[in-house]
Amino acid sequence: MTITSLPINQNYDLQGLDKLRARVGGQVLTPNDDGYDTARQAWNLTVNQYPALIIVAQTADDIIEAVRFAQAQGMEVAVKSTGHGVIREANNGLLIVTSQMTDVRVNPGAQTAWVSAGVKWGRVLEEAQSVGLAPLLGSAPHVGAVGYTLGGGMGWLARKYGLAVDSVNQFELVTADGTLLHASATENTELFWGLRGGGGSFGVVTGMEIRLYPVTTVYGGNMYYPVHKAKEVFAKYRRWVTNAPDELTSSISLKNYPPLPQVPELLRGQSFVMIRACYCGPAEQGEEFLNYWRAWQAPLKDDMKAMPFSQVAAISNDPVDPVPGHGSGAWLNSLNDEITDILIRYILPGNGPALLGSAEIRHAGGAITKVDPAAAAYGNRDATHILQVVGGAPTPEIHEAVRRHITQLWRALTPHLHGGVFMNFLGGEEARERTQQGFSLEAYLRLQQLKTKYDPQNRFSHSYDIPPAGN
Ligand SMILES: Cc1cc2nc3c(=O)[nH]c(=O)nc-3n(C[C@H](O)[C@H](O)[C@H](O)COP(=O)(O)OP(=O)(O)OC[C@H]3O[C@@H](n4cnc5c(N)ncnc54)[C@H](O)[C@@H]3O)c2cc1C
Repeated sequence: MTITSLPINQNYDLQGLDKLRARVGGQVLTPNDDGYDTARQAWNLTVNQYPALIIVAQTADDIIEAVRFAQAQGMEVAVKSTGHGVIREANNGLLIVTSQMTDVRVNPGAQTAWVSAGVKWGRVLEEAQSVGLAPLLGSAPHVGAVGYTLGGGMGWLARKYGLAVDSVNQFELVTADGTLLHASATENTELFWGLRGGGGSFGVVTGMEIRLYPVTTVYGGNMYYPVHKAKEVFAKYRRWVTNAPDELTSSISLKNYPPLPQVPELLRGQSFVMIRACYCGPAEQGEEFLNYWRAWQAPLKDDMKAMPFSQVAAISNDPVDPVPGHGSGAWLNSLNDEITDILIRYILPGNGPALLGSAEIRHAGGAITKVDPAAAAYGNRDATHILQVVGGAPTPEIHEAVRRHITQLWRALTPHLHGGVFMNFLGGEEARERTQQGFSLEAYLRLQQLKTKYDPQNRFSHSYDIPPAGN
């Protein structure tokens, strides 16, 4: 299907386009070309973007050509790998799609992997597990490794091995003038600092080298308790995590399962308070830690067990197929009964159906806090509990209602908020509106200086809101 009837501003000259087509190995798609609609789609179905031009890159050279073209034509550049985390839609700009750059090279001796721009975590997990190693992926293996890492990257090994951003050895990227650079602890060090948390504001990352860890088996899964026990479970969880070892990364959530036939009968249309955990030390020790819960009260459902790390996706069991959704998140000051009361009020169904699907509080700290806060741009390392809320948004009206409900929730939680946000957990424009809360003031100003140096015209303005200094 073509969409020529839409008012897309084809703001580039056609001669330049012909030259670009001759130079680029991947597809160059205008709104009139077959493949345009597939290429512009995002995993999050609330995103509906109409770029003036799309380059489906095959190589770093394609990205260089695309960025140089944008520079010559004065176009903004957006990047999409999977479309899990689109921030500002790429309307009328140039969209670089990286999903065909899927090279993964694991070096078992060095315990590292080279990961190209379009690789999803699942591929890295598979390749690394085959030699007894693990990457620091998040809850869903179908999320893009590079996009996840640029925003921090907090997964089920976070308390033991830290954030994904702290395990990058090197980024390769194309900056706004079309130059291919490397950034590491020894090369373009300031850029390396900024890329570790600062998102896609400084260039298009073509690949990265990351460190891997010797994890093959974990003790993990979910325990489901009835919602009328929520207050008790939250209070117990608070005590449980106070002295948790770094091997234990866990979360507590309130979850509403939809009344859909594909949901298992026990869960269908029901709400639960859930403990999720991943223990990456010896499985027997993990079982002992989790027995804290079983000794208190048998869960309604208990799938916590020793499992190969290759199956880590089973812990969060995130949807795999594209969905229309809206999420938000913020760091909390602490966990207390008042927070529990507010969450119960805003998350669980009241008189009508619930607007949000879940509220999950992940326990951070551990290795995340052991890194010098000035070592990377990533901020808020001192905060230890991150709340993330998500709701389905099948229509614009429901999307708006979900957005409003989340705003009210944040208002109610104000006294308990740390003040910082985790950039990866902000959906769409909210990531731009709240960018400064993702960083210390000093780091934010430093990011602006970096922007002035590497992207003075703010060509990469579809990521976090980091304008060049003085703007
Ligand atoms: C189901 C689900 C589960 C998630 N679980 C976690 C989790 O456990 N932990 C966590 O930390 N986050 C998690 N996230 C958030 C996720 O990490 C972010 O949304 C991330 O930005 C997604 O990256 P992507 O490349 O898949 O998405 P995309 O939408 O393709 O990219 C998102 C943004 O990343 C930037 N970007 C991507 N590739 C490049 C590149 N090559 N060069 C420059 N910039 C680039 C761009 O700004 C782009 O707009 C989850 C999200 C979803 C939807």
